[in-house]
Amino acid sequence: MKALHLFNKYIKNLTLLIDNSLINDKFQELKDFYICPICLTKYDKIDGENPLTLEDAPQKSVGGSTNTLTCKKCNNEAGFKIDHHLVNRLIDLDNSKFLPNTEVAIKTEIDGILYNATLKIDEKGIMKVFHSKKNNNPTTLEKNIPELKKDKIVDFNFIRKKIIPDKLDYAVLKTAYILLFQYTGYKVILTDNYDVIRTQILKPEKGLIPKNFYFFSEKPYYKEGIHFVCEKGLEIIMVVFTAKTIKSSRNFCVFLPIPNKNYETTLDKIFEIKRKTGEVRLSAFPENINNVDYINDLDRIQRLENWFNEFKNF
Ligand SMILES: [Zn+2]
Repeated sequence: MKALHLFNKYIKNLTLLIDNSLINDKFQELKDFYICPICLTKYDKIDGENPLTLEDAPQKSVGGSTNTLTCKKCNNEAGFKIDHHLVNRLIDLDNSKFLPNTEVAIKTEIDGILYNATLKIDEKGIMKVFHSKKNNNPTTLEKNIPELKKDKIVDFNFIRKKIIPDKLDYAVLKTAYILLFQYTGYKVILTDNYDVIRTQILKPEKGLIPKNFYFFSEKPYYKEGIHFVCEKGLEIIMVVFTAKTIKSSRNFCVFLPIPNKNYETTLDKIFEIKRKTGEVRLSAFPENINNVDYINDLDRIQRLENWFNEFKNF
């Protein structure tokens, strides 16, 4: 039921854009179709060989919800290739913070020998390290561990999940891109600037976009949603979302291109300010994306179009 509602909602949006010439002419023949936002395959029904499936942004496991449809192939491939890197990274960040009432798998090093252990932190923050015979060579363990003297220095490392940094970046990129589609439909994503974003999501092994397209913080930065940054010279789209684990919550701030404007140059300017001043505050609209409608409200969409057109001559 939800899938059908979303299917019709975005078909209506695309039709509105086509009827009012608010989209590139090459998409004229896509009237009455739902387009997979990632691979741009067109659909006149939900089911088929490669059906449309509900897509979560961010993933449900980090507190996200389902609000769009992507084709099964894109959904599975991105899920398999990139999505889990975000979840794993958040868990690793939590583990390295020594939060009370937590238990983390670690490796200890005592006199040059490595052991598998568990670091338990109680509610008062007192840490205890446990070595079990099951996870270690029992003979070595019995011989060395009981002799540990008070004040003996024990090195340890967290056992990190297998995270490929690039793929983590593209999991963040995909989440922001899907959220942009969720709130603004086809208006923004079907512009030329977004071809590279889609290719990057589909081919995470290729480094096609600059590395400095997002940051995250533990304190809320901007309200969640889509923000059109209108600061002179820094015009860009900023997508803000929260990713939660059982132990923490983080605010991701992702920059996406504005049609007609050079993405890399703007990113460089923003991150230069951030590097110099420690933070960057940007004027943006709308205040709350949930109060405006860029899917059905023609006046709103037209205003967005006018704003994008201001950059055409630069
Ligand atoms: Zn697709």
